[in-house]
Amino acid sequence: MEVVRIRPRGYCHGVVEAIRLAKQVGAERRDRPVTMLGYLVHNEHVTQELEEAGVHLVAETDRMKGLEQVRDGTVVFTAHGISPQVVQAARDRGLEIVDATCSDVTRTHDLVRELAGRGYQIVYIGKRGHPEPAGVLGVAPDRTTLIESIEEVDALHYAPGTRLAVTCQTTLSMWDTQAIIDRLVQRFPQTEVHNEICRATQERQEAAVLAADDVDCVVVVGSQRSSNSKRLVQVVEEMGHKPAHLVDTAADLRPEWFRGMRRVGVTSGASTPTQLTREVIAALEAIPDAVGSAPAS
Ligand code: SF4
Repeated sequence: MEVVRIRPRGYCHGVVEAIRLAKQVGAERRDRPVTMLGYLVHNEHVTQELEEAGVHLVAETDRMKGLEQVRDGTVVFTAHGISPQVVQAARDRGLEIVDATCSDVTRTHDLVRELAGRGYQIVYIGKRGHPEPAGVLGVAPDRTTLIESIEEVDALHYAPGTRLAVTCQTTLSMWDTQAIIDRLVQRFPQTEVHNEICRATQERQEAAVLAADDVDCVVVVGSQRSSNSKRLVQVVEEMGHKPAHLVDTAADLRPEWFRGMRRVGVTSGASTPTQLTREVIAALEAIPDAVGSAPAS
């Protein structure tokens, strides 16, 4: 069975920078507690590495609740961004703040602040319960509405003449998001569109869909918690029309997935350590031909 390495894949600039910053803080503040508020990136292996580097995890999706568990020392905000209310609460508790928010997420915060300041209502496309939308919504809570689907666009009501803008979470499916935006513009033609899916997400999705043409199935290495990894599975299935499997490590691979297959593509989410992807590629290459090859006719 041939294994096709899909490129680009794996770590993006935001994750690399967040891990570098957190490890540096862990090394420099040995004398007092360093806490990351939620998973720095959605990957358990990265979290374990950080714990070993002295950065303790408070695994609470609700950042305000998580903050209640941080009594002193330094708090590290994750790459997903943080709401101004949580930043203020951390200051009120006298904590030192280290902000590892990705620059692409910061750009969305700045955009929402600017639009709200100019009197816009903002429709934000994102996943409920994910920390990135929670952070963005906190920037202008009275002016921002979170939606997930075309059905939710149909339930929106704005008075004629309302200044309206749409933006989105950085790690969504490009195709789903465009369909939601199209429906919104159809209903409210005055909508100003600011598609904020980040370049890393776009490039990984485009490469995976393109590669799907050429392989029998795609393996995505990434965590179940990782939005961008799950979106890679989704776009391969929906846009590439090929089966896709999300695996955290090589141990999750099932030989029966590859029965009768000749070519398998491998990609990984933006928060997946390179070593894990290497191990998955090695394990796929070791699958015996008797499993990987098509049965003789
Ligand atoms: S996926 Fe995009 S927004 Fe998220 S950390 Fe990476 S570059 Fe930043």
